[in-house]
Formats: sequence, C-alpha cells, structure tokens
Amino acid sequence: MSLPPPDLILARFGEIALKKGNRGFFEKALRHNLRQAADEISPTRVTTLGGRVAIIPAGRVEEVAERVKDVFGLVSTSPAWSCASRPEDIVELARRVLDDALETRCSVFADGAVPAPVTVRISTSRSDKSFPMNSVEMDIHVAEHILPGPERVKVQLRGAELEVGIDIRSEASYVFVERIPGPGGLPVGTLGHAVSLLSGGIDSPVASWLAMKRGLEVSYVSFHSPPYIGDASRKKIADLVRILGRYQPTSRLHVVPFTRIQETIRERAPAAYRTVLYRRFMQRIATSIARRERAGALITGESLGQVASQTLENMTCIEEAAGLPVLRPLLTFDKTEAIALARRIGTFDTSILPEPDCCTVFMPPRPVIRGRLELCLRAEADLGVEELEAAALDETERLTIER
Ligand code: ATP
Ligand code: MG
Repeated sequence: MSLPPPDLILARFGEIALKKGNRGFFEKALRHNLRQAADEISPTRVTTLGGRVAIIPAGRVEEVAERVKDVFGLVSTSPAWSCASRPEDIVELARRVLDDALETRCSVFADGAVPAPVTVRISTSRSDKSFPMNSVEMDIHVAEHILPGPERVKVQLRGAELEVGIDIRSEASYVFVERIPGPGGLPVGTLGHAVSLLSGGIDSPVASWLAMKRGLEVSYVSFHSPPYIGDASRKKIADLVRILGRYQPTSRLHVVPFTRIQETIRERAPAAYRTVLYRRFMQRIATSIARRERAGALITGESLGQVASQTLENMTCIEEAAGLPVLRPLLTFDKTEAIALARRIGTFDTSILPEPDCCTVFMPPRPVIRGRLELCLRAEADLGVEELEAAALDETERLTIER
C-alpha cells in the first residue's frame, strides 16, 4: 500500500527556546506567523507540542511545508506521519515511511545496475516516559523489524543518508525522514518595528530581510524622481516588497517624490556633495515617516567602502541627519555575499532589472569621498530644507502591499 501524504509538519525552533521569561510571547508570535503563511494554502491549525510546533493543515500538506519552511524563528521542519503510541503501530508506520523513502532513492538505474546500499539510521526521541522501551531500545527494535537486507541498506550512526526520525509522545507518535533547514532568527514583529530605505538595488532588500530575521517588522520608504525616473522603477520596488512578503505578508510602502529636492540640490549645492546631500534628505524624511509609524530605527543596505558614498566619513555625514538609530545589516558584507543572499531569498532577479535609481540622476563626475559635516550644513543652509521636506512628506504616497 503506497504511503499517503504526510499528516502534519513538525517544526523546531531555536533561539526562542532560550528566551526564558518571554518564551510564551515568542512562541505565540511564531504560531501566528506560521498560521498566516500556511493559511495562504490551506486552513491550518498550529499548536505547541512540548518544545516543538505541530502545523496541521486541512490538506495540501506538502505545499504548506514548502511555504512555512522560510518562516523566521524556525530551525528546521519535517513533514511527518502520525500513529497511536504503541510499539507495533510505530514499527508498521516506520516501515512504510522507510520503504517509500528507499523507493525514491534506490530505484534500479536505467542501465540495469543496482545502486549501492543506502546508509540509514533510526533516531527515536521519547517524551512519553510510560512508553515500554527507552529511545535506544526503540531504535534497535525498529531497526530489527523494518530494515531490508544488506544489499539495500547499511546502518550508519553518523552522517547516514537517510534518518528515520521517531517522536514518541503520549497522545500520538510521529515518523519522518526529511529535515528541511529553516532560516533561524526570531519571529517577525517580536523585536519591534523599523523603516527600511528601499532602493531598487541588490543590497537594501537583503538588509530588509536580515532585519526581519532578527524579529523586526519592516515598513519601506522609497524615493522617486519622476520624470527622470519612470514608472517601471516604481513597479520594481513594489515587486521587491511583494517578494519580501514571503517573510512578512503585509507591508506598508511609502513612495516619496524626490524630484524637487534633487533639482534644488543640483542648482544650489556643490556638485561633489550631491549624493551625500540626497542621502541626508532621505534620512530626515525616513525619520519623519518612521516616527508616524511608531518605528524605532531606520535600515539601509549600506556596506562599508562599497561605493564612494559609503566611506566612514560620508556615512557619518549621512547618519547625522537621521533622528533614529540607523541599522546597517550589510555593513561588513562583500558584494558576493549580498548577491548570494539575494539569490536565496528570491530578490536577485528583480534587483538586477536595469531600472535607474533616483541617485543616478545628476550624478556629479567626482563625488566627494571624505565628506565633511560642516560643508553639508553650510550647503543645506541655502536649500530651504524644511519646506522641501514638508512638501515631499505631503505628497508621499502610502501603499499597503499584500503578498
Ligand atoms: P542598494 O543595492 O540597496 O541600492 P547600494 O549598495 O547600491 O544599495 P546606494 O545605492 O549607494 O547603495 O544606496 C545606499 C542605501 O541608501 C541603499 O541600500 C538604500 O538603503 C538607500 N537608498 C538609496 N537610494 C534609495 C532610494 N531611491 N530610495 C530609498 N532608499 C535608497
Ligand atoms: Mg543602489
């Protein structure tokens, strides 16, 4: 009899388990985030199962497993089958699960050659202490009853290709073979709220993802300069927010018109300081938006030394304009590391679409490398900063983006 789809998904969480006093709060947030992700596919019940979480969808378990594996806070997930906590039922279920796994792994090669035996181990964990065998005895008992001959499998305790997990609990027992790695981190929303400055580049989406990974709920601010920058750039930003919706299903995006600010800087400020001054405006406006959103920090994709505006001196000039802490998750990343993460989280292909960013407008031939704050302040004295900012905030477009 072929094996039906799994009944549920067992999920393991890591660091949350360490948050003694707040454990209940973190677990509740994790369950909420898991349910929200799973419900996109099938109505799902999520319960805590002594140190683990059980995700029980009404149907389409494999698709739900694929969806929830990226939820922050999870260390790993295992689609699992359940049975009554009786030795004979567990043995029978483990046999079927193993047979099914072996079948997908060791079908005879097309040329008729028989593949090498698969290395296997049985790993029991037993939280039901009234169960008649301890976990080691159960490993041996199950192995004796279910393992086929040495031409198909070889027992290997370390680094086996196939591990049959058995989780014995008083209410039921679970058998699984897959252990899908999760992203780790903390549940989104448990550490507060921050506003991410999102350009269309590779780095800021990755920085936003890393902030969510550490439990921050993220809202986005993006600066646009029509008609120099077209609608395609805006769409690209909205697409990036939607992709990041895999990790936080509902997000707010503030699109700030930046044209007048850039034109004013071009007309009245030293050319070499343009980029630094653009960035200072961005920090101030993002701070106002963050305050309205009751967010406690700003996030940027800056990485030390990556481009001229990201020297220590220029970052100091830029940060001075922010009224909240500026988090830079990529500060020490090489570009290759940011690219690898962008690919993993699914933003890379959109980020590399060749749409311009507003900062490329009126780029000076020689931007300042070691900016000085007093020169920034002197230039700004002439710009009418407050009025420009108030107008930009006034015309800011607020979007709610659902995954
Ligand atoms: P990215 O790949 O995110 O564009 P980058 O390494 O290319 O980053 P810059 O373009 O110099 O760096 O921008 C530095 C940071 O400033 C960005 O990571 C982003 O947080 C912010 N930023 C730049 N342009 C914009 C914009 N148009 N709207 C919002 N934030 C921006
Ligand atoms: Mg950029």
